[in-house]
Amino acid sequence: MQKFDIVIIGSGLGGLQTAYILSKEGYNVCVLEKNHQFGGVTQNFVRDGVKFDTGIHYIGSYDKGQTLYNYFKYFGLTKKLDVKKLNTNDFDIISFNNENKWYNYANGNEFANQLIEYFPKEKNAILKYWNKLQEISDSLPLFNFEYSPKFSPRNKDVTSGIYDYLKTITTNKRLQNVLTGSNMIYAGDKHKTPIYVHSVINKSYIDSAYKFNDGSEQLAKELIKSIREFGGTVLNKKEVVNFSFKDKEIEFVETKDGELYYANKFISNIHPRRTFEMIPREKVRKAFYNRVQSVNNTISYYNLFITFKEKSFKYFNSNVYHINGDTSWVASSYKKEKWPQYFMFIPTQKHPNDEYANGANVFTYMKFDEVLKWKNTTIEKRGDEYKAFKQKKNDQFLNAIEMRFPDIRKHIKNIYSSSPLTVRDYTGCNDGAMYGISKDYNNPLHSYFTPKTKVPNLLLTGQNTVLHGVVGVTIGSVLTAGEIVGLEYLFSKIKKKI
Ligand SMILES: Cc1cc2nc3c(=O)[nH]c(=O)nc-3n(C[C@H](O)[C@H](O)[C@H](O)COP(=O)(O)OP(=O)(O)OC[C@H]3O[C@@H](n4cnc5c(N)ncnc54)[C@H](O)[C@@H]3O)c2cc1C
Repeated sequence: MQKFDIVIIGSGLGGLQTAYILSKEGYNVCVLEKNHQFGGVTQNFVRDGVKFDTGIHYIGSYDKGQTLYNYFKYFGLTKKLDVKKLNTNDFDIISFNNENKWYNYANGNEFANQLIEYFPKEKNAILKYWNKLQEISDSLPLFNFEYSPKFSPRNKDVTSGIYDYLKTITTNKRLQNVLTGSNMIYAGDKHKTPIYVHSVINKSYIDSAYKFNDGSEQLAKELIKSIREFGGTVLNKKEVVNFSFKDKEIEFVETKDGELYYANKFISNIHPRRTFEMIPREKVRKAFYNRVQSVNNTISYYNLFITFKEKSFKYFNSNVYHINGDTSWVASSYKKEKWPQYFMFIPTQKHPNDEYANGANVFTYMKFDEVLKWKNTTIEKRGDEYKAFKQKKNDQFLNAIEMRFPDIRKHIKNIYSSSPLTVRDYTGCNDGAMYGISKDYNNPLHSYFTPKTKVPNLLLTGQNTVLHGVVGVTIGSVLTAGEIVGLEYLFSKIKKKI
């Protein structure tokens, strides 16, 4: 039996940032992680000497003085992280089919100017859109470094959708799809994605876009080092399987190896559905339990990890979002026979100045349904039929990538891949959901969780609270820790660091 002030379940970015704040504030914190590697989807792995990111590929608003930079300054990260700025004129490139014309996203006001060059007749629509993005981001207090007691997008930005909004400013379908061309970064669904989700995420990358030189695992490593320096405990291979109660409060959690971790407060960094599955049914009201179990998740994804032959495939310092067809909105409606209709392609380098890429990380949407028949299998033990399924999907995926990079096959050394099952088993997120719960403008309250739960000494943190992504999860961790140390006090400490 071990006793702590606070036990945090899961060492994803949200769990670690919350642990950082609380241990810095003097609490005796313990983080329990089920996997061998810490960090959730910040983890990296290596194949043929190429380091691949599993989740975080680039971060936004990281120029000095911008939102993420300011928060990371508080977390003591800005001096430690090894990052590289993506091209300012084309940090993201949107392309269609085998067309030679590409649409580049540029940083700052150049974003709008460049788009106007592609679509001169749409100047008004583009400026309207660009102003809207700025207006929405500026109106969000915690993103904007103004104190607010809660995460509070304006009602109109939560209850209206980006797809519908774009139709009100332009009838040009190509422009609409260029503006939502990077929707993989929020698993955009045209019938669900609220305008604020699109705006906050896109605006943060338009502010500035960086990638990690030696993998995003740096984030977890640095945070863990600090948590331990503050006296905190971070343990791997500790899968929490049960929450045990004394009256209305959790008394301890039990890990798979039978150890018990007692605490005054517990914070779950894992999906709310999985969290409440581990809580005795009578401890929460039926209506709340049902609500948690019925939330909709974002779609899952299929990932190709390509290693290239030496000095073969030229590196470029941008991300490519490629659409085979004419619509970027395929998350919920892709056609199996045409899969994949859309993908994100990220070249990787061994050293930041290398002329050639050593690999590429390419991913596309995939519904969990496609791998449902292997749902009761575990990693490396899914059988031959599953291997054949993956082989077929790898080939199909490469055919689609050839539309954009016609000679890609000749550069390839090896291909590795992961499916929604891999995602489910690594993150513990039901259905292998890419970004956890999907935000839905039709039913905003149903798809939004505050850090506070119906269990008095249980809080939530991570992508299922405020918003997924590094910026969203970071602000979420401040809100969660603020429930314990006082948000106004914490926020003033963060502001002092700027
Ligand atoms: C493919 C992909 C690409 C992405 N690209 C970007 C990007 O470029 N930029 C960006 O900003 N964001 C990106 N994101 C989103 C971002 O990575 C996530 O929103 C964020 O990292 C989620 O952090 P988290 O702490 O909420 O959860 P997670 O990282 O999911 O962490 C949860 C942790 O809990 C652990 N756990 C689960 N169950 C248990 C249990 N029972 N006991 C103990 N531990 C448990 C898991 O093993 C995991 O370590 C991407 C995500 C994906 C999947």
